[in-house]
Amino acid sequence: MFCEHCGKEVNPDAEVCLNCGCRIKNSKKQVTTQDDQTANTICIVSLVCTFAGSFIFGILGDLSGLENFFDTLAGFSSLFGFALMVYARITYPNNKFAKVLMWIYIGLIALIVLLVILVIVFGILFFTSLVK
Ligand SMILES: [Zn+2]
Repeated sequence: MFCEHCGKEVNPDAEVCLNCGCRIKNSKKQVTTQDDQTANTICIVSLVCTFAGSFIFGILGDLSGLENFFDTLAGFSSLFGFALMVYARITYPNNKFAKVLMWIYIGLIALIVLLVILVIVFGILFFTSLVK
């Protein structure tokens, strides 16, 4: 790879040319930074869809009385957020935000599964106590 400005050979990992100090176009480092920015944006959109989406749709459902409709929208919004995280993880495997986000989602899913199990267990306990 050569510097566009002075024509000297440059290290593609470098951000600037060591000979003239010019920025190296399409250096690996710059591409990585751009990828990181794109991945971070996708991650933020994913978070907004998952959390703000369900929150806003939940409130709208309460206000309008159309809870089923808005609950469905909230579900789709969360699924979309989750899909965006998976997309960011696959497309930008080195992005740190996407990695952190993946663990947040895994933690959330584990928490939901745990809650569902607790509800089922308490439900069974409740019904067996009724039978007696
Ligand atoms: Zn140069």
